[in-house]
Amino acid sequence: MSFHPPKRTLMGPGPSDVDPRISLALARPTIGHLDPEFIRLMDEIKELLQFAFQTKNELTLPVSAPGSAGMEACFVNLIEANDSVIVCQNGVFGGRMKENVERLGAKAIMVEDQWGTATDIGKVKSAISANPDAKALAFVHAETSTGVRSDAATLCSLAAENDMLSIVDTVTGLGGIEVAVDDWTADAVYSGTQKCLSCVPGLSPVTFSPKAQNVITNRKTPVQSWFLDMNLVMGYWGQGTQRSYHHTAPVNALYALHEALTILKNEGLENSWAKHQRNHRALKAGLEAMGLELIVASENRLPQLNAVSIPDGVDETLVRSKLLNDYNLEIGAGLGQLSGKVWRIGLMGYASNASNVRLCLQALEAALLDQSVQISAGAAIAAANQSYLNA
Ligand SMILES: *Cc1c(COP(=O)(O)O)cnc(C)c1O
Repeated sequence: MSFHPPKRTLMGPGPSDVDPRISLALARPTIGHLDPEFIRLMDEIKELLQFAFQTKNELTLPVSAPGSAGMEACFVNLIEANDSVIVCQNGVFGGRMKENVERLGAKAIMVEDQWGTATDIGKVKSAISANPDAKALAFVHAETSTGVRSDAATLCSLAAENDMLSIVDTVTGLGGIEVAVDDWTADAVYSGTQKCLSCVPGLSPVTFSPKAQNVITNRKTPVQSWFLDMNLVMGYWGQGTQRSYHHTAPVNALYALHEALTILKNEGLENSWAKHQRNHRALKAGLEAMGLELIVASENRLPQLNAVSIPDGVDETLVRSKLLNDYNLEIGAGLGQLSGKVWRIGLMGYASNASNVRLCLQALEAALLDQSVQISAGAAIAAANQSYLNA
């Protein structure tokens, strides 16, 4: 029998709701991955990614695997055994960067900040002065485990001033908040398709600066990963018509990515960022009207990922299962040290809209009233509506 998934509203940390236009693109007929029409599609995807990342980097492409593979691609191509890398950790994903560095036989110099706060610039400056020979500075722009934005512009310029490469995780950032690869002078940046691009999971857009590309082509040792070796992938995604077979591109997933990026381009980057802010403000107003609190200070908050403290005495698993069973609504649980302490409410891409904000507030209100939490019924929706009126 065929598999028919339930129709959910996805307001967790990803995947987010896929725009139906993108699902339709996915269903178009598969063609050969060296068909001239497919090559044309690849060229357009590259240009659209350059637009989304705001970069002129030639080495800009979607890795044929999820965001984690984009992370691995950046580290495995740029870092060699015995290198040292300054890794900023303020949540789950910085910890994965550390693992990547260590598995390559390199040394991770950790700059740790409390979960829910941004990477501290002062600590990074000290780590750089104490380790002037570090090859790279790696950090998470949009930490999905906590809902924190770190100051990518400052961190990348610190790396550049000190002749280090910058490696940036913006899996959750792209499309939701400003990502300005060239203005930041970022060297290696990776993202994902299933967060603010509202595309299906399974691809990871990456971009490498000319400086990073130079490091990759002049390595002392071959890249350990055959599949992710950009020296080989460049022959497939590179310029010109002389494309050689490397792996079979996920043809239909790339139709979907092309559609997602076209939607973003038509909407405009600034409009997309403004939309994320508007819906975030309305959600926040509603949550606060129910007495719920966001854990991140307002200046570092990601509009697309809202980490909310769970009130004392509330059975948080029961709340999430009520949302899923009664409202077909998925929100995220806490991850790592925030497990059981927060819910993570995503408002990403296509899912960032007023009906979702209202659905989520209404469902949470009902679930909390079920558990006898003292809230005044209807206050959340009223506050969200007011926020939209003021917008
Ligand atoms: C989701 C996410 C990843 C991993 O992406 P996958 O597509 O799940 O492999 C990496 N970093 C951050 C910050 C993320 O939010």
